[in-house]
Amino acid sequence: LKLNFKNAIDPFAPTGIGRDTVKALHDSGAKVVAVSRTKEDLASLSKECPGLEPICVDLGDWEATSRALGNIGPVDLLVNNAGVLLTEPFLEVSKEAFDRTINVNLRSVIQVSQIIARGMIARGVPGSIVNISSLVSRATIPTLTSYSCTKSAMDMLTKVMALELGPHKIRVNTVNPTVVLTNMGRKVSADPEFANALKERTPLKKFAEVEDVVYSILFLLSDKSAMTNGSGILVDGGYLAS
Ligand code: NDP
Repeated sequence: LKLNFKNAIDPFAPTGIGRDTVKALHDSGAKVVAVSRTKEDLASLSKECPGLEPICVDLGDWEATSRALGNIGPVDLLVNNAGVLLTEPFLEVSKEAFDRTINVNLRSVIQVSQIIARGMIARGVPGSIVNISSLVSRATIPTLTSYSCTKSAMDMLTKVMALELGPHKIRVNTVNPTVVLTNMGRKVSADPEFANALKERTPLKKFAEVEDVVYSILFLLSDKSAMTNGSGILVDGGYLAS
């Protein structure tokens, strides 16, 4: 499978799905813009990916994001990957954690996608946007009120974007992974009993690898998925089939 990517942007993870997506896009020859709020991560990634354009911003801050991405060059592909997972039992859900989760996981996806899609429409070019959702958008676990709600909303946001942006030849899809052992995945699966139960209910009896998720992202970004729009790829080892 030869992927010919042009200009891509990826709000990324330092050791996670976003980082490996950036590297795969860079390796494919794309000119990549990587967005993170941590300077050191951008610096180390820039060393690994010469030519990378780093943008350092807190995507939970609307005004700062507007400034940081205001003058961005042409972008054909967007991966909305940045996310936070703050666990709280439902009866203890706090305004602060809920607002933060909504702002980073959902509101920033709307804002960044608006900026990038407006650019695509102005240039009259087709595009592909991939939103990194989650298995828990469809079947959740305790303490994930804020996180799960943002991922469910992201699945619906993806459909609305697909409806409205499709006529401009911009496709929008999600990837919905089960646990992947990144920083976030380690946090959510820290309890061995819970982790084992999750694996046990998964027909493939394991968590996903970062590359399992990255390949699905690359497929949805590429022309190989030209007729896939408003849809999602479950990377869950069959969990939801059970
Ligand atoms: P990580 O925690 O490793 O990555 C999350 C990334 O988002 C980090 O780079 C983090 O930067 C960045 N980020 C968080 N808040 C902000 C912000 N305000 N502004 C800019 N960047 C921010 O986890 P993953 O790689 O696993 O997560 C990637 C995506 O995959 C997320 O959307 C997550 O919800 C989703 N996902 C993950 C699963 C898993 O089990 N790992 C399962 C299903 C979905 P920083 O380090 O600076 O905070």
